[in-house]
Amino acid sequence: MSSPEKTILFNSSTDPNKILPIKYHWARTHYKSGVANNWTPDEVNMQRDIEQWKAPNTLTEDERRVILWNMGFFSTAESLTANNIVLTVYKHITNPECRQYLLRQAYEEAIHTDTFIYCCDSLGLDPEEVYSMYNTIPSIHEKDDFVVSLTKSLMDPDFAVTDTASAQKLIHDLVGYYVIMEGIFFYAGFVMMLSFLRRNTMVGVGEQFQYILRDESVHLAFGADLINAIVQENPGVWTPEFKQELVDLIKQAVVLEEKYAEDALPKGILGLNADAVKQYVRYVADRRLERIGLDIQYKDENPFPWMSEIIDLKKEKNFFETRVTEYQSSGSLNWD
Ligand code: FE
Ligand code: MN
Repeated sequence: MSSPEKTILFNSSTDPNKILPIKYHWARTHYKSGVANNWTPDEVNMQRDIEQWKAPNTLTEDERRVILWNMGFFSTAESLTANNIVLTVYKHITNPECRQYLLRQAYEEAIHTDTFIYCCDSLGLDPEEVYSMYNTIPSIHEKDDFVVSLTKSLMDPDFAVTDTASAQKLIHDLVGYYVIMEGIFFYAGFVMMLSFLRRNTMVGVGEQFQYILRDESVHLAFGADLINAIVQENPGVWTPEFKQELVDLIKQAVVLEEKYAEDALPKGILGLNADAVKQYVRYVADRRLERIGLDIQYKDENPFPWMSEIIDLKKEKNFFETRVTEYQSSGSLNWD
């Protein structure tokens, strides 16, 4: 009556081309959320941003730097993420409903890359300057390097998941891609860029980051569900030592993200200072830890309750009144 029980790992008996019957409904749900959230950058009007960017006194030097740095970080981080999904995660995760989601995520990463092309074009930014920040800004370089170094096992062409140790390596790298890169390293940048939107300044760029944030929330929900499913099916991987190793990695990531916040906001900008952003990073890291069943480490309050309101997009239209596109509320944003 039923085909062999599907599992995420050690599944040589399951057919990667046979998606029905679906076992992992969360993967299907995230796929449908992605489709419901569909957007493209050229839907966002940039006219006011262009005027504000070119006007001599609308933005301070510090504010311009914050915008440029976040463009610089995200522009490389988005393609790094796309490469990770297509070249490594897709190879090792053969379950068809997870793969359907991974294809959707890869498309969304292409949209995010397109956002930076569109922003560079409309604001007249120098692409060389934006892209070279990966090399020229130390705290951006360190974040990218950290992710690249902690996701090395999956990049090895001979890597295969054959036993508990290799399953732990896979989880370790998934934590690097989803929990750390998309779940922590994006969030100081999100809060900085959305603070402009909140002040009704550079609203087009802010909206684009808001849509990216909405997509990323689903990406990391998928990543966490994937990690949790693997752990649930292979409880032997979840040793106290391995859990501690993951907690330590996440704590290292928090230090790097705090440093990025300090460097990007040496004097603070209107409504935002480095200490509050660092607190937000710690708050977000605790949410990521608990989402994958690890002990929270920081116990900070959320210093930016308005971020939760922005993430809850049902309120978005009334909040900013900048766009006419109808949003579909897919119920996918229940955690930030
Ligand atoms: Fe992305
Ligand atoms: Mn993503």
